[in-house]
Amino acid sequence: MSSRSGIGYDSHRFAEGRPLILGGVEIPNAERGLTGHSDADVLTHALIDALLGAAGLGDIGQHFPDTDERYRDADSLALLGEVCGFLSEHGWAVVHLDATVICDAPKLAPHRDEMRSKLAAVVGLQPLEVNVKFTTNEGLGFIGREEGMAALAIATVDRDG
Ligand code: MG
Repeated sequence: MSSRSGIGYDSHRFAEGRPLILGGVEIPNAERGLTGHSDADVLTHALIDALLGAAGLGDIGQHFPDTDERYRDADSLALLGEVCGFLSEHGWAVVHLDATVICDAPKLAPHRDEMRSKLAAVVGLQPLEVNVKFTTNEGLGFIGREEGMAALAIATVDRDG
């Protein structure tokens, strides 16, 4: 059995008139969402890059280019599902995911369990195997100025041989 890990990072800028979607969950009553070619789900994007990294399959921009109209406003959970399919084609099974969302506002912790459940269902894990953490940037930098948010992730995968 071989086991590998990969890291992921993503950031997106806040924009008016967009829903705020994180880990596939639309945060109710969010004043602003994130801007991007897809639904700009920064958490799911970091997880996708972590999974691709673990399997040695490149990065999200390579698989889902932001110049491709097919991915305009794309549901990032659907992209995550596609990535799990790529991994599976290469014999990799997802074992564990962990992520940190760095965001000064709004408060996201009330939505943690729903994010874990949604992400776990897509990757074929239990919610306990998909950890999601939240931290602020203590008012520092672009996150502290509430211009945007970022996410970090690590994925562990394994396969026979
Ligand atoms: Mg992104």
